[in-house]
Amino acid sequence: MIEQLRAKAKEILEKGDASVIIGYGRGSREDVATPVFITDSARIDEMVFNPHCYNNLMTFVTRDDHKRLGTPAVVAKECDMKAAIVLAQEDQVKEDGMLLLSVSCEEMGRADAACRFNGVMTIPQAEEWLKQNYLPAELTPEKLARVEEIEKMPAQERWAFWSKEFERCIRCYACRQACPMCYCRQCIVEKNQPQWLSTSAHPAGNMAWNIVRAFHLAGRCVDCGECERACPMDIPLVSLNRAIQKEVKSAFDYVSGYDHAGKPVMATFRKDDEEDFIK
Ligand code: SF4
Ligand code: SF4
Repeated sequence: MIEQLRAKAKEILEKGDASVIIGYGRGSREDVATPVFITDSARIDEMVFNPHCYNNLMTFVTRDDHKRLGTPAVVAKECDMKAAIVLAQEDQVKEDGMLLLSVSCEEMGRADAACRFNGVMTIPQAEEWLKQNYLPAELTPEKLARVEEIEKMPAQERWAFWSKEFERCIRCYACRQACPMCYCRQCIVEKNQPQWLSTSAHPAGNMAWNIVRAFHLAGRCVDCGECERACPMDIPLVSLNRAIQKEVKSAFDYVSGYDHAGKPVMATFRKDDEEDFIK
């Protein structure tokens, strides 16, 4: 499979269809893979794909230092493809502004997992592929089991649960840096005129930071889990995000990452909405 992926990436670079391959390379240990940025096809053998390739590579396509490398072809697992679709929907990338080298790795995390190369796709093609192959796996009972356990707690207990989790936050912002949907040039926590949020690690500021981030991701989070994986304090951020995904699905029948040409769900309204807040 890796030979197919390398051959296609090499062809893309040599034909000039993209000027940089954003993919995975060997990490500092056997069980680690790291993002690589390849502009010279002679380096294509640096590419790997295995069950240690976790990073959501769409995180890089909106960053100025990587944009300078030109049109990217990005190795994209299902969550990366969904992130590309949301970025196109939010006008952060053009729908023909990148190629996706679509890959799947069954049961990521298992060293013997089977990896597949699904071909080169544009963003609209990836959307069709995901609808056919991935949408049924969204918000399954298994994925929601922990969310529902937390939701069953009485309100005070639930508040105590999250307060205790967020108390551990050290405000390192690794969750934000790992997230493909956190692409603001200047994050609200770094603005100090006015200062919206306290930036030191203490319970009140931590609660505000984590709630603000979760709400900013409402209807946009693609459930890649990278924020939680990056968090050095093991805060269960995925459960928080999935609780909001569940609300968005129930209120708007909407799952993010499947509609590159549609309006972002939290940035639009219908005049005939039956709720009266809009009238
Ligand atoms: S799971 Fe986390 S990192 Fe991934 S899109 Fe959602 S908030 Fe961002
Ligand atoms: S990665 Fe974890 S500890 Fe760091 S800011 Fe995010 S929630 Fe807090």
